[in-house]
Amino acid sequence: MRTLLLATTNSHKVEEYSAIFADLPFTLLSLTGLQLDLDVEETGTTFEENATLKALAYTHASGMLSLADDSGLEIDALGGAPGIYSARFAGPDTSYEERFRIILEQLRGLPVAQRSARFRCVITLADPSGYHRSVEGVLEGVIADAPRGVHGFGYDPIFLVPELGKTTAELTPEHKNRISHRGHAARLARELLKDWPLA
Ligand code: IMP
Repeated sequence: MRTLLLATTNSHKVEEYSAIFADLPFTLLSLTGLQLDLDVEETGTTFEENATLKALAYTHASGMLSLADDSGLEIDALGGAPGIYSARFAGPDTSYEERFRIILEQLRGLPVAQRSARFRCVITLADPSGYHRSVEGVLEGVIADAPRGVHGFGYDPIFLVPELGKTTAELTPEHKNRISHRGHAARLARELLKDWPLA
């Protein structure tokens, strides 16, 4: 069995990736419990650049095939913001309630056709030779008029999936994983892993 390092400490992501990669011949490790405390600065200008920076840093530090991701929310009416700054929008310590208030205020009065948005996730796989590949998943939606729902995290309460009439915070975790940007990207990463070259 080959080893794949999931370069995250987020237990939700570890669970989701473990489920999607379950039948592949890889033993999965995550940063939790591993003495690998890298502080990789996300200095890229795109999700792909940031995911690649992280995947290369972890594969070089660990000597293992590594997976890193970067994701966020793009709101068209805000020129694609918060984008790669989603986790730090309006300051790293600002609550999501406050972020929702700021975003909803900026979109106030806009009709639904002008409230388009998407969650985007890029996953990069890299091995110690420096070889790396990236895949991307997207979930299209609109920004709701008000926050709704209790599941999920981050911007889920204001992200409405029009076909379902629900925010992603109103979906069960299983339902969200089936349609989410991260789920899509992870299934594409699974295809890359199936054929990943032996070092
Ligand atoms: P990261 O890729 O884990 O660093 O996520 C960046 C940020 O994007 C998160 O902190 C959230 O603010 C936002 N984000 C990414 N994916 C989701 C999602 O599925 N739901 C809600 N917010 C998300």
